[in-house]
Amino acid sequence: MTKHYQLIILGAGCAGLSLATRLAALEAGCPSTLILEQRTSFENDRTWCFWQTADAEAVDLSQHAWHHYEVRADGDSCVRNCETHPYCYVSGDSFYQHAQATLIASHNPIALQMQASVMSVQKLSAGQWQVTTANAVYIADHIVDTRPSQQPATQHARMWQSFYGIELRTHAPMFRPDTVTLMAMDAGFTDGLGFLYVLPISPYQALLEYTVFSPNQYRAETLAPCLTSQLPASLQAGQFELLRTEYGALPMGHLQPMSSNDPTYVYAGLFAGGARASSGYSFQRIQRWATVCAKQLATHGTPHPMLKDPNWLSWMDDLFLSVLLHHPKQASRLFFRFFSQPSVAAIAYFMNDRPTLMQLLQIVYAMPKRLFVNEWITQRRPKTHANSH
Ligand SMILES: Cc1cc2nc3c(=O)[nH]c(=O)nc-3n(C[C@H](O)[C@H](O)[C@H](O)COP(=O)(O)OP(=O)(O)OC[C@H]3O[C@@H](n4cnc5c(N)ncnc54)[C@H](O)[C@@H]3O)c2cc1C
Repeated sequence: MTKHYQLIILGAGCAGLSLATRLAALEAGCPSTLILEQRTSFENDRTWCFWQTADAEAVDLSQHAWHHYEVRADGDSCVRNCETHPYCYVSGDSFYQHAQATLIASHNPIALQMQASVMSVQKLSAGQWQVTTANAVYIADHIVDTRPSQQPATQHARMWQSFYGIELRTHAPMFRPDTVTLMAMDAGFTDGLGFLYVLPISPYQALLEYTVFSPNQYRAETLAPCLTSQLPASLQAGQFELLRTEYGALPMGHLQPMSSNDPTYVYAGLFAGGARASSGYSFQRIQRWATVCAKQLATHGTPHPMLKDPNWLSWMDDLFLSVLLHHPKQASRLFFRFFSQPSVAAIAYFMNDRPTLMQLLQIVYAMPKRLFVNEWITQRRPKTHANSH
């Protein structure tokens, strides 16, 4: 007999498992839930970082936090103390293990099915959903779909944040585990902004990533030599043990986030508006959505779509992306100014989408105003021109 669930979550990644752990913690009103995941097992495939603010979620999952950060551009270096708002690190390993342990310990009716690749989802005449995997067919009242988009990359975003990283262990102490290097700009990269990102976990161990902000999406094979070229000489000579690699391409300024008009079918995660336009970061945004979505499921029985950014934030991010796109040579200086401004709180809350008005003004004050005003005027010009005909 076809098994029926009140909710089926498609995909057990960050969004799917974040929602599932919130549902597992509910004292009442948890819908009967099935999570379908195509992978056979969870690998340590990524690292999530975010700024710790008073409203940040899942802070207890972080295994490391940096109390200083560094940014380097055009021969200048800025090192700032951020102990009031540390930069936190959650490994994929610990996130997946915590989620699985939470589901096992929960008394709520939530099942996780691995090796279950969803092949089709169809709406039945009774209003329910039929979900087909290679081995089974399920019926659900509601769907939360967190699978990545199948659309071609070019239709996704104004810009991309592509990165390739290696986690390595050295024989001699090489890193300062209290300082994260957020951006060490690569002046030699010309198709946008290229920089090295260094996350040291101990004097001997670090994750080093070469990251590119560009209108073009970059593949891991292209980024790997860029990373090597930015490493210190001893690492270039291969004096380390390679622990793992990671790669990602995150949409910045999503053009067509996945959405649905049917309240019983909700898209969530990176490609459903999860990625912040100006940074590509999604972890905290997904956590916030998961909390709201679980509450709504418990109280109203329906899932909540991804949370929308306030208009002013979308507007600011859009303008920032336009500046990056049209003035790529200024990009490294812009980020340097952003991270060198006096208020670490303003940076942390802005990066987590939740600045106060005062913090917002501090951000605006730190930016080169003429560049942004000119870009804003240029953005508006074609519209005015078109309207006049
Ligand atoms: C390497 C990497 C590092 C990142 N670092 C950060 C960071 O530091 N900070 C930050 O804020 N954001 C970061 N991000 C961005 C974002 O937070 C992550 O991409 C996050 O995992 C997105 O969550 P998600 O649930 O949308 O997608 P995923 O976590 O990718 O989950 C989607 C799931 O759907 C499953 N799936 C796909 N197709 C099917 C199918 N047909 N049937 C069943 N299951 C299916 C996949 O196997 C996967 O488990 C990073 C992304 C990557 C790739």
